[in-house]
Amino acid sequence: MKKIAIYGKGGIGKSTTSANLSAAFSEMGHKVCQIGCDPKNDSTRLLLGRICRETVLDMVRESEDGEVTAAQIIHTGFNGIQCVEAGGPEPGVGCAGRGIIVALEKIRALGAIAEEQLVIYDVLGDVVCGGFAVPIREGYATDIYIVSSGELMSLYAANNIAKGIQKFAKRGKVRLGGIIGNGRNTENELEVLTEFATKINSKLIMYIPRDKVVNQAEVQRKTVIEWAPESNQADIYRTLAKKMDTNEDLRIPEPLSFEELEELVYKYGN
Ligand code: ADP
Ligand code: MG
Repeated sequence: MKKIAIYGKGGIGKSTTSANLSAAFSEMGHKVCQIGCDPKNDSTRLLLGRICRETVLDMVRESEDGEVTAAQIIHTGFNGIQCVEAGGPEPGVGCAGRGIIVALEKIRALGAIAEEQLVIYDVLGDVVCGGFAVPIREGYATDIYIVSSGELMSLYAANNIAKGIQKFAKRGKVRLGGIIGNGRNTENELEVLTEFATKINSKLIMYIPRDKVVNQAEVQRKTVIEWAPESNQADIYRTLAKKMDTNEDLRIPEPLSFEELEELVYKYGN
């Protein structure tokens, strides 16, 4: 079953998209596990209906011998979805990237994820340091998707992530499945995102519009799939899940130079 990683700039909509995708995949009958790899540890909030306080790193810190059980770190959310949060370092001590390395090693050592499970890694991609690159570097995920809006800094982060994927694709199975556009209503956003995706040898797999139902559901601590199952937005997440489920067009990206990126955004009048 597919092992997917969702990367993108902080605040761009990775966790919202990941949680809605997990919910949609579970509706399709998949056994889903979502792993939050962001020290913010709110990846699974919409699935659990609460902020997960029992992160892998917290559980490791609290245990006397550094050992944890699967039951301590895997929490069951909406529709039986398994939720894990890697957690973050204590403020001022340690490194967030290192935290992800430790957390993913623990999960692997416990054999907590079965081959038949569909896994979504929700990973912060502002910096693709050793830790944040682990899901793509160590073969945890093979199908990578990047969430971006049409804003320059979001595309800049997306381009950097593409650089990381290109590097690790040479020696492994990791490939870019596409760009997931998450709308910020910038000038000609769809055109900017489509051209960016094509230029880096990928495709815009979906454009998710900005919709207040997402924020209404968030206040209820629910995904749109759960809170407003009949809404257009819920169907958009379902369509994206179906496309990702059958996506075999996975490629090695060819990132742009910063000048090319600036030119692209400039061309469309941002
Ligand atoms: P990230 O995980 O990338 O840091 P989040 O998923 O937490 O970002 O999203 C940041 C904010 O943007 C949240 O308040 C979320 O509800 C909002 N958001 C994300 N996608 C949409 C959308 N399509 N429409 C409206 N609001 C959105
Ligand atoms: Mg997040």
